[in-house]
Amino acid sequence: MSMSLSTKSTFTSLGTGTTGERMHALIKELYPICRSITGNGVRESLNILKGRIPIEIHEIPTGQQVFDWTVPLEWNIRDAYIKAPDGNKIVDFKINNLHVVSYSIPVNKIISLAELKKHCHTLPNKPNAIPYRTSYYQPTWGFCLPHRQLELLSEGDYEVVIDSTLEPGHLTFGELFIQGDSDEEALFSAHICHPSLCNDNLSGLALLTELAGIISKRHSRRYSCRFLFAPGTIGAITWLALRKEHTKKIKHGLVVACVGDNGKMHYKKSRQGKAEIDRAVMHTLSHSGQQYEVHDFSPYGYDERQYCSPGFNLAVGSLTRTPHGRYPEYHTSDDNPGFVTAEALADSLDKYIEVIDLLESNYTYLNTNPFCEPQLGKRGLYRSMGGLTEAKTEELAMLWVLNLSDGCHSLLDIAERSNLPYQLIRGVADRLIEHGLLTKKIDKSAD
Ligand code: ZN
Repeated sequence: MSMSLSTKSTFTSLGTGTTGERMHALIKELYPICRSITGNGVRESLNILKGRIPIEIHEIPTGQQVFDWTVPLEWNIRDAYIKAPDGNKIVDFKINNLHVVSYSIPVNKIISLAELKKHCHTLPNKPNAIPYRTSYYQPTWGFCLPHRQLELLSEGDYEVVIDSTLEPGHLTFGELFIQGDSDEEALFSAHICHPSLCNDNLSGLALLTELAGIISKRHSRRYSCRFLFAPGTIGAITWLALRKEHTKKIKHGLVVACVGDNGKMHYKKSRQGKAEIDRAVMHTLSHSGQQYEVHDFSPYGYDERQYCSPGFNLAVGSLTRTPHGRYPEYHTSDDNPGFVTAEALADSLDKYIEVIDLLESNYTYLNTNPFCEPQLGKRGLYRSMGGLTEAKTEELAMLWVLNLSDGCHSLLDIAERSNLPYQLIRGVADRLIEHGLLTKKIDKSAD
């Protein structure tokens, strides 16, 4: 296993079409693959991503101790079905991989309807949908099917076959590191363990792939960026166990999930609550002109649970559209390629880029002319004639930047205090720098 923390970047083309269309196409390509917390489905998915971005694939052996957990046996599945008494296949894994409880042990026998029902999972409230079920740490087997279908089954002998293996192997995760000017990092993490489910979390994989491509093409980057594609919970725990010391370099982080549905954006704050990433996301959402919701950290959800465990307490929040469990398609066969849209994916990506741009440019400046206001008019920075509201807002932004650039306020501090959009604050700061009225404060703590 390679433990190197950097990757020589060889980015291939992300494909054609708009960013939203490309992300949607990637989701459709990954959709049929049966992923779980270990196994060939994860490898196959990572190899598809590797065709677009140069991720390193890591294999951690079964039995390795990772904090209080152990890397589990590797699960692979080739086929599974239920044959009705008349010999017809009524449930077929090859048509939809949600039909099998993830991590099912192998089975091949003839059973009665009553016995079969003990191993069937359905959703009475959504009778046409197949539920998503897992049993990672309790050896069992089961099938998932539409409730309507189960109700129609008649008495008789059913053949149940699950051709799976559960044996020593590896846990697989993918990682991409892009070096910035600073060794301080922004971490972007998505879980890769769900089978045919799109919003949760193929949307996250697609967004991160597109984002990595965009960031890699930038000529300069302040922060290094790390992209992690790992199985939920055990994958994040394994990664944190391997990188325990390294996590000190993580300055900002986001857990990416459910970014393809048409709901509004939701931000779940880091455990720290007032970290720069929390403020950057909340400021971006509050000036987006769109509806959004912000929630405090809670120890339930995706891998922010691990990143924000007390031993790490990293500044990692989670930026999603409709959160897990809050849309009816969640963890069912209705979370399919038709449920996620190119438009929503592109809009989510825009939010991520805006947050990154904010963090990248959020420096603290010093007013070079702090004794009374500098005369803006003689520098052409003040309107010669009154009137335009836009010009007025810009001047107001300029006065805020000059007033608060005392070496103690970052541009984000100023945007928050003035309640003006960060992009405006940053724009006028650039003009003031051009005119020699602002100078960057050298951050002694950096690097
Ligand atoms: Zn899930």
